Amino acid sequence: MIRSIKTYRLQHKLTESFGFSQWHYDVRNALIVEVIDDSGAVGWGECYGPATVTQNAIDTFYAPLLIGWDPLRNEAAWQHCWRASLDFAMKGPMMGAISGLDMALLDLKGKLLGVSVSELMGGRVRDRVQGYATSMYFRKQPESELLETLLDEARDCVARGFGALKIKVGKNMAFDRRLIVAMREALPDTQLMADSNHAYDLPEAVKVGKLLAELDYAWFEEPLSPEMRRQFSELASKVDVPIATGECEQTRFGFQDLLSHGGVHIAQPDLAYCGGPTEALKIRAIASSKGVNVLPHCWGTQLNLASAVHFVATTSVEPGRAEVAEPLLETDLTRNPMRDEMFGQSVQIEHGELTVPTGPGLGVEPDREALANYCVQKTEKTDA
Ligand code: MG
Repeated sequence: MIRSIKTYRLQHKLTESFGFSQWHYDVRNALIVEVIDDSGAVGWGECYGPATVTQNAIDTFYAPLLIGWDPLRNEAAWQHCWRASLDFAMKGPMMGAISGLDMALLDLKGKLLGVSVSELMGGRVRDRVQGYATSMYFRKQPESELLETLLDEARDCVARGFGALKIKVGKNMAFDRRLIVAMREALPDTQLMADSNHAYDLPEAVKVGKLLAELDYAWFEEPLSPEMRRQFSELASKVDVPIATGECEQTRFGFQDLLSHGGVHIAQPDLAYCGGPTEALKIRAIASSKGVNVLPHCWGTQLNLASAVHFVATTSVEPGRAEVAEPLLETDLTRNPMRDEMFGQSVQIEHGELTVPTGPGLGVEPDREALANYCVQKTEKTDA
């Protein structure tokens, strides 16, 4: 029985800001949730989205619904939360709150049953997951300097063993073109992807997409704004580069609708936002029925990373074949002490490969002392 649900809002001020097509980050925020049952066993989860809002949603709305709940009934818990807030929370930060709880319940269930999250997800297809490096964010530098910074950073990623990496585009058309071309010239044998974070209108996306196709980029991520669903198929009919999107999308219903419009080749739910790891499995089932592969968006701490590693470990690539291309997991290489210095147990990354944890639950565990150092606000709901 769930006895207590705690949230920790974490913050880290960056020494150097970094940016993408929409804005620059000066501070990192994270929202961690801890679910404790009456045996004292603990499950951890993470919510992607505005941390103050998800914290409030858990503390004041969802935690009271789940106190006293049997943690083994995790899918029923999801439905309970979903139905209780269906009238006003089918999408948005409240779904982010449900996602973190879903992740924590899965971690807790794994620990109670003595099995890993990948075993709860149906069992591993692979024990190691190939990562692709996410980095190459914009800096507040003159563009010629910035171009060199980004090329150096990309070479560093390759030197660390990553055979695939993703750059940010969507700054402005002239710079984007220079960057896309320079990156391919610098790294002729590396798998490259480009992410605009929904910066382009359709004519711009067509121009960039053609360039990416010509230079053999592996995918074009968020080329268009997520609400412009109908434009994706139009873009796909005009460019030959695979199109990836979905980090702003949530739930099986959202992805069913998104994919029904066509033009999306790779679906990218974030497990800390899409409704949680169990909802991501349903999204994967829907995507698979349309021949679309799911490669999660992954950002934040070890909790979201471990969830995504377990998820990709259980992914069967569509279509199957003897020498199938391995699914790639987003591996954020930007400096983040809340990911790299806050956990007693972390996902091991070596030569661009992530080892799937085999211990019970997610297989990563925050260090409580380190957690306290980043915590700016804590909440707790108990059965008392
Ligand atoms: Mg992205």
